[in-house]
Order: sequence, then structure tokens, then C-alpha cells
Amino acid sequence: MLEQTGIPTTDDITAAAPSQERLAQGPVALFECFQNIPCNPCADACPQGAITIGEDINQRPVLDESKCNGCGICLAHCPGLSIFVVDCSSQDNQALVKLPYEYVPLPEAGQSVNALNRKGETVADAKIKKVQQNKNKTTVVWVTVPKELAMDVRGISLRKEGSHYD
Ligand code: SF4
Ligand code: SF4
Repeated sequence: MLEQTGIPTTDDITAAAPSQERLAQGPVALFECFQNIPCNPCADACPQGAITIGEDINQRPVLDESKCNGCGICLAHCPGLSIFVVDCSSQDNQALVKLPYEYVPLPEAGQSVNALNRKGETVADAKIKKVQQNKNKTTVVWVTVPKELAMDVRGISLRKEGSHYD
């Protein structure tokens, strides 16, 4: 359970995720923000008005997936590093995942890195597509991963030169 491990279960994740239909249509935000905390920068930042917190600031964010265009602005504003953008619309077997990254050095576009799951385990090779630096906000890294891992990959780690994931 999330309360015991700090790692969301499949049930937690499925309940918070956009519909399969929306995921297949193009980039959309996912909120892995599972605790009732007084926080709302995501809602204030969204230019589409797609995020609702409710009258009580302790309520969890709710996404109107029909309004979200996957821009990732909310992701850069989230102090909890709890927001991701997933795009499963590609015709090939690759999905795009936009994720928060607050380490240095930053990766570079074109670089191969390890794709990590929520436990920090390496689960695949990933390729950096873009690194989006945001002034005074979290850097957003775009990575391509095997489509079947789009809902699992939530981090990356850089490799020593010449090493790779087997
Ligand atoms: S990804 Fe963009 S449009 Fe979607 S909720 Fe975040 S800020 Fe709003
Ligand atoms: S900004 Fe992040 S941590 Fe705060 S409510 Fe939104 S998703 Fe949760």
C-alpha cells in the first residue's frame, strides 16, 4: 500500500490515470499526487484550466482530460515532482514520457539513458528526445521508451560511457 511503502500500487495508479482512449489520442498529464496536502501550483499554472483542486486546498488535483494538451507546464511547477505527461499516440512501439528531473548534470538530446520504474529499478533503455529547462522551475526531460512501459517509467539515470541495459 502507498501509505506503507511510499510507492503507489497499480490500483492507485489506474484510478488516477487518464482513460486508455485519451492516452492513445496524444500527450496528456498524469497526476501521481496521492496524498491530501495543501498544494495547488499545478492548477494555477495550467493555461487550459484543465486542473481542479476544489474548495479545500487539501483535495487532490482532478484533471479534465478533454482540456489537457500535454504541454507539461504543470509538471514544471509541481514541487512534489508528481506530474508526468505520457503520449502513446505514435504508430511505432515507442511512447513519449515527459518527466521532472532535478539532478546535475542534465542529459542531452539523443543520449541513451536507463529508464527507471517507481522503485528506481532499471527496466529498459530510453532515449532522450528533449531537455526543457525552465527558469526557476523544474527541468522537464522528454524520453522515448517501449510503449508497454509508458505507465511504468517514471525516472531516468545517466550511464557511464559505453554501458547499457541488458
Ligand atoms: S499538461 Fe498542460 S494542459 Fe495538461 S494539465 Fe498540465 S498544464 Fe494543463
Ligand atoms: S502541484 Fe504537484 S504536489 Fe501540488 S497538488 Fe499539484 S500535483 Fe500535487
